[in-house]
Amino acid sequence: MNYRAFVIYGSPGSGKGTQGRVLGSIPGFYHLSTGDVFRSLDFRTEIARTFMEYSSKGHLVPDELTFQVFTQHIEKMIALGSYKPEVDHLILDGIPRTATQAILLRNYVVVQRFFLLDVVDKEKLVARLVKRALKENRADDANEHIIRERFAVFDKETEEILKHYPKEIMFRIDALQYPYEVLRDILMKINTREE
Ligand code: ADP
Repeated sequence: MNYRAFVIYGSPGSGKGTQGRVLGSIPGFYHLSTGDVFRSLDFRTEIARTFMEYSSKGHLVPDELTFQVFTQHIEKMIALGSYKPEVDHLILDGIPRTATQAILLRNYVVVQRFFLLDVVDKEKLVARLVKRALKENRADDANEHIIRERFAVFDKETEEILKHYPKEIMFRIDALQYPYEVLRDILMKINTREE
């Protein structure tokens, strides 16, 4: 399989979910957030419990389990007709999160653009995340210690992940702009006609 995809990559709180949702509302784009997929699992299942175990500590779910959930979700969305690989571009939000995932992903998707939502001042994000925790009732945003743990995980993985994508498809976007400015910068770099 080689689903066409744009990756929205950024640290927790960088706004990748917001951008993914907006882009996903445009016909021809399909937003797939692995965090959302994990959170929508039936919490009585083993997989959902494993997810909670990792995410509540600020850790990543193991790669193998992540891919199991990711591929099952794509197959389900194709079967339901909500994602149509022959016409839609995937907007990937939350995957890849490790170098291994970047490699595994090649079996399924062709990454046409990689958008790095860049945040220079991480302290601004802590405030964003604490606000989101209150709004969305998320255990992983609930305290600053866990937030900082997630930033540490992110920083450690980022360098390794970026190595897997050529410079020509990578675009660094200032994530501390207004959401519409971030969106504009992303859209300026998207051209689905050329590929
Ligand atoms: P954030 O970007 O704020 O961390 P997400 O919704 O993308 O939020 O992810 C929430 C949690 O879900 C992560 O902290 C992690 O535990 C888990 N998760 C999401 N995507 C992945 C992935 N690709 N690999 C491993 N774990 C993931």
